[in-house]
Amino acid sequence: MSQSRFTQVQDGILLGATQIASPNFNVRPPDTDIQLIVIHNISLPPSQFGGGYIQQFFQNQLDWSVHPYFQTIEGMQVSAHLLILRTGEVIQFVNFQDRSWHAGRSSYLAQKECNDYSIGIELEGSDDLPFEPEQYQALVEVVHTLRQAYPKIQRHIAGHSDIAPQRKTDPGPYFDWQLFRNMLAKYK
Ligand SMILES: [Zn+2]
Repeated sequence: MSQSRFTQVQDGILLGATQIASPNFNVRPPDTDIQLIVIHNISLPPSQFGGGYIQQFFQNQLDWSVHPYFQTIEGMQVSAHLLILRTGEVIQFVNFQDRSWHAGRSSYLAQKECNDYSIGIELEGSDDLPFEPEQYQALVEVVHTLRQAYPKIQRHIAGHSDIAPQRKTDPGPYFDWQLFRNMLAKYK
């Protein structure tokens, strides 16, 4: 039986995660239970890692003039509940009780607006490169703890491309769902 470093969710906060506040959230609709985890990838600029630009982006503090790509996302206000860096460090931007802005127009099992009832987890990565073992390890530990804190999640874990197939490709072909599921099965 494996043990998670992220053993507890307390008032919507993941203990063990670095906390950085994003202003990009609002309240979930009344009486909405968390019942889905959405996995994404993001890197800024694309396929470049480190630099802290994702963190700045989610805080609405990114200097759009730093890179030409940044101008294509200028003014966007988005977030995720969690970001898992290449090192496996986990950063929380939005309280799980609040609605973060990660999914956009989306649908899961015919239920629209996934942001209303999901937790969004971004992996620092791209559609072109493998993810790091440290990221799978952190993701599995986090998902295990979230499923215990929010039991309606059960097996409802989807990629962004699953809930918005016309618009989105992440977490992409390099995200190894089989490895992820096998690792997760070791946690009980
Ligand atoms: Zn995404």
